[in-house]
Amino acid sequence: MFDRLAIIGIGLIGSSIARAAREHGLAKHIAIADASDAHRRQAQELQLGDSVHHDAAEAAKNADLVLLCVPLGANAAVAAHIGPVLKAGAIVSDVGSCKQAVIRDVAPHLPRGVHLVPGHPVAGTEHSGPTAGFAALFQNRWCILTPEAGTDAAAIEKVKAFWAAFGSKVEIMEPRHHDLVLAITSHVPHLIAYNIVGTADDLETVTESEVIKYSAGGFRDFTRIAASDPTMWRDVFLNNKEAVLEMLGRFTEDLIALQRAIRWGEGETLFDLFTRTRAIRRAIIDAGQETAAPDFGRSPAAKGDAQS
Ligand code: NAP
Repeated sequence: MFDRLAIIGIGLIGSSIARAAREHGLAKHIAIADASDAHRRQAQELQLGDSVHHDAAEAAKNADLVLLCVPLGANAAVAAHIGPVLKAGAIVSDVGSCKQAVIRDVAPHLPRGVHLVPGHPVAGTEHSGPTAGFAALFQNRWCILTPEAGTDAAAIEKVKAFWAAFGSKVEIMEPRHHDLVLAITSHVPHLIAYNIVGTADDLETVTESEVIKYSAGGFRDFTRIAASDPTMWRDVFLNNKEAVLEMLGRFTEDLIALQRAIRWGEGETLFDLFTRTRAIRRAIIDAGQETAAPDFGRSPAAKGDAQS
């Protein structure tokens, strides 16, 4: 599909793409760049690419497709650095969890004739780094592309075909809408998980060892999400501020209503909501996004859960 594929950032997502691209024979040459000495060494040991570079521009030079797989906060600097070496007709894409910020940070640095097709594979785990990746990560998962109006149609088709080859379902979405949808399905849930685990950790009347010892299914599920990469998630909240604050406002209002229902013993209100939310879980299972098997946080399958 591509003569030269450059992957900048060989962490969980970048290394999964490298593995999948190799497995499906999508590029003649896979060039990898990463700022971390340890990650470049691991990428070499795991033979994730044909060349491994410290300098992202060396990897991006002559590439047909450049995929930015770095934390959102690093995109602008990387784009500014590689912009001058990109060849005419090259496609630049990314995997960032927010899309308006990527367009804001990357587009100004790309020369004319280079096509930006932002993307977001809605797949991940709470692990990071090159050893955490696996080729099947994107199978049966959605990948959302958010090209701006007027983007070269052939470039969009190529990026679509790239993700489809991994077994992903591809959807095109307007960037602002993407950020709103992901705020409620991923970003706010992560914030809630970080917050509840933080609250439990701060409690004075319940000791930390009690929290760990008696962690029931509910709390344990939150700790998995709250173990997600701190850099990545700091950058998500800094870069999807508007949508997250909007959804958080709605969430807070609803939480206060629940608090009131508990205070006034309004059992029917609680029962009706819990019935409605149970149906959403059913719909997610029916859509093939999750299994119905009970999971107490112990099954190996839980490791591959879709995340952001
Ligand atoms: P990760 O495992 O931490 O990998 C990021 C890699 O990029 C690390 O090796 C990091 O090195 C390197 N890096 C950081 N700054 C760099 C720079 N300026 N130049 C070159 N390399 C640099 O993170 P990830 O989970 O793969 O996430 C990468 C992107 O995917 C993020 O934008 C995130 O929003 C998106 N995403 C993540 C998930 C998920 O579940 N994890 C899902 C979908 C999308 P250091 O570790 O030394 O900083």
